[in-house]
Amino acid sequence: MFPRSFRNASLTGLMPHRCLTKRDPFMIRRPACGTILPFLMASQETGGWTHLQPCGKTQAMSRNAPSAPDTTLLAAADLPHLWLPYTQMQTAPFPVEAARTSGSRITLADGRELVDGVAAWWTACHGYSHPHIHAALVRQAEQMPHVMFGGMVHEPATRLAARLAALLPGDLERVFFTDSGSVAMEVAIKMAVQYHINRGTTGRTKILSFRGGYHGDTLGMMSICDPEEGMHSLFAGVLPEQVLADLPVDAGSMTRLETLLTERGDSIAAMVTEPLVQGAGGMLFHDPEVLRRLRGLCDRHGILLILDEIFTGFGRTGTMFACEQAGIVPDILALSKALTGGTMALAATVARRHVFEAFLSDSAGHALMHGPTFMANPLACAVANASLDLFESEPRLEQVAAISAQLAQELEPCRALPGVKDVRVLGAIGVVELETLDNPDALRRAFVERGVWIRPFRNIVYLTPAFTITPKELTRLTTAIVDVLREAA
Ligand SMILES: *Cc1c(COP(=O)(O)O)cnc(C)c1O
Repeated sequence: MFPRSFRNASLTGLMPHRCLTKRDPFMIRRPACGTILPFLMASQETGGWTHLQPCGKTQAMSRNAPSAPDTTLLAAADLPHLWLPYTQMQTAPFPVEAARTSGSRITLADGRELVDGVAAWWTACHGYSHPHIHAALVRQAEQMPHVMFGGMVHEPATRLAARLAALLPGDLERVFFTDSGSVAMEVAIKMAVQYHINRGTTGRTKILSFRGGYHGDTLGMMSICDPEEGMHSLFAGVLPEQVLADLPVDAGSMTRLETLLTERGDSIAAMVTEPLVQGAGGMLFHDPEVLRRLRGLCDRHGILLILDEIFTGFGRTGTMFACEQAGIVPDILALSKALTGGTMALAATVARRHVFEAFLSDSAGHALMHGPTFMANPLACAVANASLDLFESEPRLEQVAAISAQLAQELEPCRALPGVKDVRVLGAIGVVELETLDNPDALRRAFVERGVWIRPFRNIVYLTPAFTITPKELTRLTTAIVDVLREAA
């Protein structure tokens, strides 16, 4: 019998075609255009993954010839209408199809159940479908799913803004809502640049960001991401040129940054970093001391400090916000990902009082000109309020501490495996860094076959589970990593 995952791919991939239903598995046709798309999983496979070797063959079957097993292996390209993120659609394998979620489990369309090690791209901190969040969503849906936010406010947003202001350190107290992390960061940059303009300072037009950083995929964010992540070479001429530096992690890099700021500091509006963890850059950790250095440099050079807590916010690093560990307060802070507990798209850019006050004047030209259509969506705000309730009523930070200890213990055996460069844990983030990772797709498939959802990227295999994951579920994730990496070695 052909592997289950292949069978699943065949069925789900052709579901959109009228000739096929789940109960009709042997009437399989290629898409209507009749083309057999050239895909070769084999070209992506590396040594050690023989159990994943595909047949690489396509064949049409009909109800009249049901006996031959379907060995069709579909690629992402066989999805007729979807364009997937970060995916070479021609060569990427067919994605799995999710049907239901609950707690730390994802049930696939073919009935298989996966333990989720990623928590929906780092968002689902309470696990999926938490009853308290679900109830808030239903209640708000019945009352007012959406209303515009121009010249009109509503209780879910005013309450959420007040709660965020109370939770965040210092006078971070003005909340501007958007609907994605990238846009929250775009707004942060606009705030910072206009802050200087409104105060009559000219020439501060540049943003200083750090190697390894990631702040989103919009054009503005691409210009301040790590050059590789932001595709700077490909998009040269399109992206504004910003200022890139190394994080001041030691005396040498600190001196270089100080020199850069002495030379160009007065052209810089803001300095941007993810505090403690550069997530998409490869889960790179730095000490709280680095953030204190940045705060000091910004103060000395009249630069605003923007912290991107889109990933680190809401407990992920062990404290509610990562900046707390450094004891510093940024001028602007961005939140998203776990803000709604992974249920709705929502983001927030939070400014300190002095930043907000720079926008107050008799001139309309000093106002912040930004306003996404779905800004402060009431459903999303209601769910975010429910998520904050759970941080109060359930022991989230204690759970993070327990996860941290378990990750450290159970990922430790990876360190001895050939090809493993580093094993590191911070809060509920567990990382196994490899020397190289040539085929993350194959690794992902191997994990799916072990009943876990883990999505390696760059050269890392990592876990960012829900804080509500059970110790047993977490062990399933760590065991899968140890086993798969051992087999691959
Ligand atoms: C995910 C992420 C973003 C982008 O958020 P989107 O909602 O995907 O636009 C920005 N910064 C950091 C640190 C992130 O992890």
